[in-house]
Amino acid sequence: MATFASKRPDLAGARVLVVGAARSGLAAAELASRHGATVVVNDRRPEADLGPAADRARACGAAVVAGGHPADLAAHADLLILSPGVPPDVAPVAQARRRGIPVWSEIELAWRFAAGRVVAVTGTNGKSTTTAMAGAILRGAGIPGGTGGNLGTPFSELLADDAATAVHAVEVSSFQLEAIEAFRAGAGTILNLTPDHLDRYPSIDAYAAAKARLFETQGAGDAAILNADDPEHARFLPAIRGVPHFFSTRREPDAGAFVRAGRIVLRTSLGEEDVLAVAELPVPGEHNVQNALAAALLCRLTGCPPAAIAAALRAYRALPHRLEHVADVAGVRFYNDSKATNLDATERALRSFPDGTIHVILGGKDKGADWASIAPLLATKARRALLVGAAAPAIRRALAATVPLEDCGTVSVAVESGLAGARPGEVVLLAPGCASFDQYRNFEERGEDFRRAVARLASTGSGDA
Ligand code: ADP
Repeated sequence: MATFASKRPDLAGARVLVVGAARSGLAAAELASRHGATVVVNDRRPEADLGPAADRARACGAAVVAGGHPADLAAHADLLILSPGVPPDVAPVAQARRRGIPVWSEIELAWRFAAGRVVAVTGTNGKSTTTAMAGAILRGAGIPGGTGGNLGTPFSELLADDAATAVHAVEVSSFQLEAIEAFRAGAGTILNLTPDHLDRYPSIDAYAAAKARLFETQGAGDAAILNADDPEHARFLPAIRGVPHFFSTRREPDAGAFVRAGRIVLRTSLGEEDVLAVAELPVPGEHNVQNALAAALLCRLTGCPPAAIAAALRAYRALPHRLEHVADVAGVRFYNDSKATNLDATERALRSFPDGTIHVILGGKDKGADWASIAPLLATKARRALLVGAAAPAIRRALAATVPLEDCGTVSVAVESGLAGARPGEVVLLAPGCASFDQYRNFEERGEDFRRAVARLASTGSGDA
């Protein structure tokens, strides 16, 4: 029987069941297999739909059970790895819990085998941006390690660049944090908390409890970093086991990062240090200042000098699908914020443009959002809302009296209609406030669809893209 008490378990001969054959599940299967485990990969999708995923699982020696989650699949497993996209109550997971075997997320498994340290980023919005900033700073400072996690490359695959001196920048979602045991971030931040994923969580308290796990597994010397400007940060204070630090654009915390006279300043046990001017950040919006403050703190607290932090932040470029300027067509500006999958991100996007100039594309897979909550901002900022996807009727019900609404069905129709109804200088903004899964595989595909639709307009119309 395998034992999981030590940080690095001996997996030789252990039977590992991986539930969910997406990218992180496959990475976990490969890692476990490399360490001598006998691996079974299970997915709800039938074999024909798994395609290359099944091949990849078999290539690392795993058996594949496709087309459902058989009730007794975990009967002989020693360890279950649960992928973030799989509901935590599927039969094999319930069986594993009854049997008392560990149920880990892929980040837990990867952490067990990592020699280096981790800086981890969670929160409702800004995770990918902050993780990418932190990774850029660490690499710019010459510190080995990888950048990924929930963003791009699974943590397990970052271990190719692992060493005792490594620091990995890892984005962690609430779903991944639900199933950690010992995963420990030398420095970790919860950037913010707004209602999201309420289709999966029974309440915002349950969602927050998952995020709080990040701090609960830290040790006394670790840094727990919170956003002092987000009133919700207070709910995470009791979870802190390490040293609290705060970031703020509005006040100067005793320990943390803040803005003074237009400059980013760090205040840690190393003293007060000037980093760079806010105006030097190449990404717009107060939310990106917050992301930069958090990234700077994470990296300073893991040994990066302020000059390296400043250099990397100056050179940072926005990730695709995050308030990305795509093109101008006939003087109308098109922005792709497909990653705005909840209303807080939609609000941030709306605030980034002048009042009364926005034709905003809203809709997709509804996550139980309170659409009426954005009505006042929408009335100020938007000229029209162009509705797409499954959430359109719910949005119409909530916002009918707010701004003119137009049912477009698809993103490409919304782009055409956006151009038709916009004046030069105005903005057509994809900031849908919903997940994409009703019409797309992911938010990237939705963003690409938007981009293509804009390119079509640019090539057929009087485009100046
Ligand atoms: P995540 O990985 O948490 O989804 P991203 O960096 O990919 O975060 O950004 C997601 C969305 O939220 C984008 O629409 C982006 O413009 C917006 N955003 C980025 N940072 C923040 C922040 N700190 N607060 C609120 N919204 C943000």
